[in-house]
Amino acid sequence: MKKADLNVTGTFIWYYYICHRQVWLMSRRIVPEQDDPNIEIGRFIHEMSYPRHKKEINLGHIKIDIVMKGKDGFVVAEVKKTSKFITSARMQLAYYLFELEKLGLYTSGELRFPEEKRVEKIELTSQLRQELEEAVRDILRIAYLEKPPQPKKINFCRKCAYAEFCWS
Ligand code: SF4
Repeated sequence: MKKADLNVTGTFIWYYYICHRQVWLMSRRIVPEQDDPNIEIGRFIHEMSYPRHKKEINLGHIKIDIVMKGKDGFVVAEVKKTSKFITSARMQLAYYLFELEKLGLYTSGELRFPEEKRVEKIELTSQLRQELEEAVRDILRIAYLEKPPQPKKINFCRKCAYAEFCWS
């Protein structure tokens, strides 16, 4: 793979905090099983929640769920099915804020968990910026490895669309 081939998206950031092997598989465009009911439920919640605010903007390599003008400026909201993978969700949203900031758009974020009726606010800090820069560098390092990192059994494997590929 050539260096220029990979744009680090929010999805890469999300999976980076779950499984590095998955980052490698995605970087090679190895497509997992799509009929996982969890993926479908996630899509459904994404479509049906907060329909009045629903808006999606596409900045090329990143797609952002909702942008609302709050009382203190623009707010980017990301809808998630569950708060179980909270670190991934926080870092993914922080990455969107960081990418928008690079374009001169200063925003804050909201993680929305409609099934849990819960909202968490995210502000971009210098610590988050630094962590994201390191994560992006490490994602590129993983993506350009000749072979995928070895699989490691984690709870997420049970619902991972790549499970058959890793464990059969
Ligand atoms: S099955 Fe487990 S090890 Fe394999 S890609 Fe998914 S999370 Fe990673």
